[in-house]
Amino acid sequence: MNTIAAISTATGTGGIGIIRMSGENCFQILEKIFIPKKKQKIEEIKGYQIKYGTIINQNTKEMIDEVLVSYFKAPKSYTTENMCEINSHGGSIILRMILEECLKAGAILAEPGEFTKRAFLNGRIDLSQAESIIDLINAKTTREAKASAKQLEGELSRKIGTIRESLLDIMADIEASIDYPEYDIEEVTNHQVLEKIKKIKQELEQLEKSYETGKILKEGIKTVIIGKPNSGKSSLLNAILKEERAIVSDIEGTTRDSIEEMVTIKGIPLKLVDTAGIRKTEDQIEKIGVDRALKLLQEAELVIMIIDGTKPLEEEDKEILQKIKERNAIILLNKMDRGDLSLEKSAMLCKLNKPILKISAKKGTGIEKMYEKIVEMFELGNLQTDSETLITNIRHKNQIHKAILSCEKAEKTIKENMPVDIIAVEMKEVLESLGEITGDNVSEDIINEIFRKFCLGK
Ligand code: GDP
Repeated sequence: MNTIAAISTATGTGGIGIIRMSGENCFQILEKIFIPKKKQKIEEIKGYQIKYGTIINQNTKEMIDEVLVSYFKAPKSYTTENMCEINSHGGSIILRMILEECLKAGAILAEPGEFTKRAFLNGRIDLSQAESIIDLINAKTTREAKASAKQLEGELSRKIGTIRESLLDIMADIEASIDYPEYDIEEVTNHQVLEKIKKIKQELEQLEKSYETGKILKEGIKTVIIGKPNSGKSSLLNAILKEERAIVSDIEGTTRDSIEEMVTIKGIPLKLVDTAGIRKTEDQIEKIGVDRALKLLQEAELVIMIIDGTKPLEEEDKEILQKIKERNAIILLNKMDRGDLSLEKSAMLCKLNKPILKISAKKGTGIEKMYEKIVEMFELGNLQTDSETLITNIRHKNQIHKAILSCEKAEKTIKENMPVDIIAVEMKEVLESLGEITGDNVSEDIINEIFRKFCLGK
């Protein structure tokens, strides 16, 4: 295959930057542009060795930068091909000049994800592992990163491998009954096959279900904080953000003044919507309109309604309460530090049948209880443990769903005493659906589509 090259570090300036090359002629190309301090023949250089030297302009022989080059010899590299990584200084101009030299010397510019695609095509990792790499890079929460790392280690692949084996086992049973009809073992076989298919289906269903948790990990619970002006929204937001272990990141594609912000507290990822609007109220620039929040309510997966507990309910509160009736909502009675919150006993609140918690946003008390409540509401208990295999990828979920449907069809076929070779066809469908996850049988279009989402240099 051609030798490809790309800048692998993020754009912008940094301490160091990395240019990667991969392909059969990688070292010959490198030789044209890299002058090591201590000359050595490529045969003498071992894999995983680092050499110090300079990158030069091939035409003028001028030095471009002082660098360290790591050598990876096939097959022991990311792509399984000959590879090198040039560690230069991290200026974007320098990086581009070095990349330019690689291209002049015979490399071609890598496409996004091409290094990982080669690792897949060369059989070092399967497709689900390749996809986990992009998830790992894009992870917004520590738990999501952990789930992706496990997938990279091959956990999902192993699980699917086990299911595949059971499927092949069933197919062997079926073969036997087709090959030796004289033994009249069909009845027994049918019963056994049905039991085995049921078991496989259960395992697949469990995987499919894990996607709900996986999705929360990946995207966060879309949360709206709503309340009248002065109820304590921005104080609550600050209390959440001040939480020691809160990891805050802007949602992709938005800027500092983003309207959505991901916060992870105690492993619970919340995607807070319209935080910019709430922040503004602090600066008294613009009070967020309840109207606007009510609109956001429609899409929210969790509504946190905050009420000033020291005051009686007003029309506006009642209007909001009306709107959250059918929603996943938590009601916070704020300002408990001021003493008795008589609202707690308000009949109107109680009959909503929503969790009502007393807090002090200003002092940060009661916030812990709120997290516990969220864990309970979204059944996130298993987020705290790392034991379960989580599906975080919609493509995988869809394939698993297809496999489940094929299992159901097979069950029906058996129950209706249809010819066993029909079951064999349906089992093959299950195999194929699962094969698309690991990439054993997957079209080139899908492969291209997957790797297009990668960044350059990965
Ligand atoms: P927002 O308009 O809903 O964002 O409300 P703020 O967070 O700006 O709070 C309005 C006022 O209530 C401010 O003066 C806060 O200091 C005060 N406040 C907020 N939370 C508490 C609380 O828990 N206890 C007390 N005593 N005052 C609070």
